Amino acid sequence: MPDFVIAPPATPAVPVIGGGFFPIRRIFCVGRNYAAHTREMGGDPNREPPFFFTKPADAIIVGDAVPFPTATNNLHHEMELVVALGSGGRDIPSSATLNTVYGYAAGVDLTRRDLQDEAKSLRRPWDMSKGFDHSAPVGPIAPAARIGHPASGRISLTVNGEQRQNGDLSDMIWPVADIIAYLSTLVELRAGDLIFTGTPDGVGPLSHGDRIAGIIDGVGQLEFTLS
Ligand code: MN
Repeated sequence: MPDFVIAPPATPAVPVIGGGFFPIRRIFCVGRNYAAHTREMGGDPNREPPFFFTKPADAIIVGDAVPFPTATNNLHHEMELVVALGSGGRDIPSSATLNTVYGYAAGVDLTRRDLQDEAKSLRRPWDMSKGFDHSAPVGPIAPAARIGHPASGRISLTVNGEQRQNGDLSDMIWPVADIIAYLSTLVELRAGDLIFTGTPDGVGPLSHGDRIAGIIDGVGQLEFTLS
């Protein structure tokens, strides 16, 4: 054990269905991975290579209460399938990628859309629009050993009981296996890495006190209040 001069930070972790906790190493997110959402954001849904951004590992937040972030007047929800890697590698062939998956969860990629729009127009980085504190609420992880590798199923989100997003995992432009294969050409993936796989259409603004509930058939759910 090195002689650390301050206490080492705690490892962020997510509970696993059936017991135990999954430790988080890094968080990768895929942009524009559903055609209808790509169109609603003004993009071309033709199959370009996927692009990625990141959030810090401690952006993960588990549980019923998520603090409303500072510095935004247009906080958006993006409901997403989250992949949790139990192993990794570089240049992983598509046929082998699912062997690296430990499990799956439902998550929300909270986005300061006003700051993101400004970053896009000024050609600046997205970090402060995507990677802020508590920007990655996530539900419990369902091990692939229990649920398999879902390639289809409804992915939906309600705000205060009203339907906002309603898509299907089969509508992903880049399925999970291809995302892992492509990402592993850019970085060496490792156990503990999470991948947020993009959102279906219907993203929209959130207010203080809103109750957000997301569910992915065959995977799981999450529910929280913005306080
Ligand atoms: Mn997203």
